[in-house]
Amino acid sequence: MITREPGTAFVLNRQEFINQLGKNAEKLGVELCTDDKIKSTNDLDGDYIIDASGCPSSIKREIGIDKGIKAVSFQQTIENSNCFKPNEAVVKFDGRYGYFWIFPRNPEKKELNVGVGFIKDFGYNLKEFLEIFKKEYNITGNVNYVTGGLIPVGLQRPFKYKNILFVGDAGVGTFPFSGQGIYRALLSGDIAGKCISKGKAKKYPHMINQAFIKWEIVGKTFITFNLAFRRINPRLFLFSLRKLGSFVEITHL
Ligand SMILES: Cc1cc2nc3c(=O)[nH]c(=O)nc-3n(C[C@H](O)[C@H](O)[C@H](O)COP(=O)(O)OP(=O)(O)OC[C@H]3O[C@@H](n4cnc5c(N)ncnc54)[C@H](O)[C@@H]3O)c2cc1C
Repeated sequence: MITREPGTAFVLNRQEFINQLGKNAEKLGVELCTDDKIKSTNDLDGDYIIDASGCPSSIKREIGIDKGIKAVSFQQTIENSNCFKPNEAVVKFDGRYGYFWIFPRNPEKKELNVGVGFIKDFGYNLKEFLEIFKKEYNITGNVNYVTGGLIPVGLQRPFKYKNILFVGDAGVGTFPFSGQGIYRALLSGDIAGKCISKGKAKKYPHMINQAFIKWEIVGKTFITFNLAFRRINPRLFLFSLRKLGSFVEITHL
């Protein structure tokens, strides 16, 4: 078992957070356009553009520069669940190179997110895997929302193209082994904003490399070795995961 210190993980109410962020931005004079789907980079205007369109980035797809490792995921939101625990996030790793999670969501509804992800698309039926997992751990309740799709693993280069800076999933991706997706998106957005406001947008790729290279080296080494381990013996994967877990615990990666 790998543990994290209390206070190193948080449950974020995203809708509320985005709402507050929008209100604060408007107070500062930002013009917000909602429900406005960008169809092409030709629609965009400005000295600088920040692409935070997630994974896959709509701009990167249009330009044809969408690189980087992508994991696959499937998640259900379940209310009135017997397994709801307000202060406990559970992650269970699977020797086939994936993991399952149970994260608390809304205490009022005893709501949680239960999901499954694999580091690569091995062609597994994720919905089926999740149902088996729920049965095995006797997770009950009513499914009220289903999501999933690609999760970018590690840095998704390039970070900048002409006057476009890529942040969040579109740029820095996630580090699933220590649960960092939203955290990295916030960090990269902050770095991009500071670079532009200081007139140093050209430095953005360098700043991102500096901030995330430690995660990148550890993550990529882990992935490369374990794609081989997975084929030899799933236990090797779980063993190396435990080692990575202790490393993450010690170094606060
Ligand atoms: C099933 C699942 C579970 C996850 N669980 C966690 C977790 O527990 N903790 C965690 O930290 N991370 C988690 N992640 C990862 C996390 O969701 C992402 O890392 C994070 O949301 C990245 O934020 P972002 O703003 O870059 O992209 P997103 O949150 O994907 O936001 C992109 C936004 O851009 C909009 N958009 C896209 N294209 C266009 C367009 N052409 N025009 C206009 N708007 C557009 C989208 O509608 C969306 O609102 C999970 C991901 C998945 C798939």
